[in-house]
Amino acid sequence: MAELGAVVVRHGTVLPMDTARSVLTDTDVLVVGDRIAGVGAGLEAPPGAEEIDASGGIVMPGMIDTHRHLWQTAMRGYGADWTLTQYFVWYYLEHGRKFRPQDIYAGNLLGALEAIDAGVTTTVDWSHGLQSVDHAAAAVEALQSVPGRFVLAYGNIQAAPWEWVTSPEVRGFLQKGKDAATDRLGIQLAFDVLGDPSFPERPAFEVARDLGLPVTTHAGVWGATNDDGIRLMHENGFATPDTVYVHAATLNEDSYLRIAATGGSISVSTESEQSAGQGYPPTWQVRRYDIPVSLSMDTSVWWSGDLFSAMRTTLGADRAREHLEAHVAGETVTSSHLRAEHVVEWATRGGASALRRDDLGSLEKGRKADLVVIKNDHSPVSFPLLNPYGHVAFQAQRGDVQTVIVDGVVVKRDHRLVGVDLSAARTAVENTVDHLRGALGEETWQAGMHPELPGDDKVLDNPYTYTDYADSSTHHHS
Ligand SMILES: [Zn+2]
Repeated sequence: MAELGAVVVRHGTVLPMDTARSVLTDTDVLVVGDRIAGVGAGLEAPPGAEEIDASGGIVMPGMIDTHRHLWQTAMRGYGADWTLTQYFVWYYLEHGRKFRPQDIYAGNLLGALEAIDAGVTTTVDWSHGLQSVDHAAAAVEALQSVPGRFVLAYGNIQAAPWEWVTSPEVRGFLQKGKDAATDRLGIQLAFDVLGDPSFPERPAFEVARDLGLPVTTHAGVWGATNDDGIRLMHENGFATPDTVYVHAATLNEDSYLRIAATGGSISVSTESEQSAGQGYPPTWQVRRYDIPVSLSMDTSVWWSGDLFSAMRTTLGADRAREHLEAHVAGETVTSSHLRAEHVVEWATRGGASALRRDDLGSLEKGRKADLVVIKNDHSPVSFPLLNPYGHVAFQAQRGDVQTVIVDGVVVKRDHRLVGVDLSAARTAVENTVDHLRGALGEETWQAGMHPELPGDDKVLDNPYTYTDYADSSTHHHS
């Protein structure tokens, strides 16, 4: 008992994310070892327990991102103005293969730190830049050096899945990863199904089944993956409850019914779908099929990796679509289907359920102790705290994440990561940027960052400019 650390988080507004969606004011959360030992008012803590004052703040489970390409964090913000086509050309066809193992390491290290800093305690590293097992080892090394919870979803966009998944080296790596898996580092397979009627992806799925690894797949991505991929997975028995369909935006009813029937879930990356063009963020329609949803941020080459953005944009996109559909029919939406509590649930329990981790995603006695305190006494946005779910979804941001606990260990305290050498991550990423910039040449580097404008942005002649503004203030035209 003596060697188990204890932490008690006092007097917070606790969102335990239990099935009742409780809101508990002035409540404590006690952590002993790696588990939640209690949630309640005035809890007694073991001697020597660290006390964290959460008064005025919100305590919620650590958030779970089910789809991040962490390796791309090394190129943070570079593709801000890209479309999905420009992304594909840059990473898949031209420059993605220039990433060395140390570049995968650098991106993963920075992205993993970014995640825990934002209160994202579990991240699926959708790692599709693994051109060799050396790249994969580098990805794992980075994940193991950061005190978060991760799932390596092994992928390789430089080869077809039926080639790389079945190679003896990769298979060996996957087997080793499976054998060594812990509740801090899991392993999956990540590849896409392109809809070829001969279903060439079958051998890759068979390896996944043999090894007992879940598959995560970009599905329903405009111009890339479609209903044929879903149908082939389903007809061949590879659509399972642990399959995560990322985006699932450009799909028909038949595909959604197949996903629902097999118990799979959807990872919605709203900020990505809105900007890159995979399809309209699908939450507004998947509720008709009762398909479980989790949230994700996709890649920091465009967006940052905090789920506050995911919650906010998902609410916005869902409501925008409802209003738009109603207005087209001449109607008015008077009550929104999607509520703040739903997106907070997707960012926590939803992710846990997608990963089949019953021990994560809620603050209940016996669960793993992954939790976040949102509290920023110096911020005018921190009060009044009237609607905690609404506060998390629409008011809070990553700078308000005061404390983060993973597996019972405080990894962020007083708004600062604990025991993290950020300068090492900075050096690693700078080396990667230097390498890529040098390998590409300055002109290609700049062109990649600044795509050409389409050139059809003609401004219409405006008939309302016939009079100057000063006149219009005295002569009112009806
Ligand atoms: Zn993705």
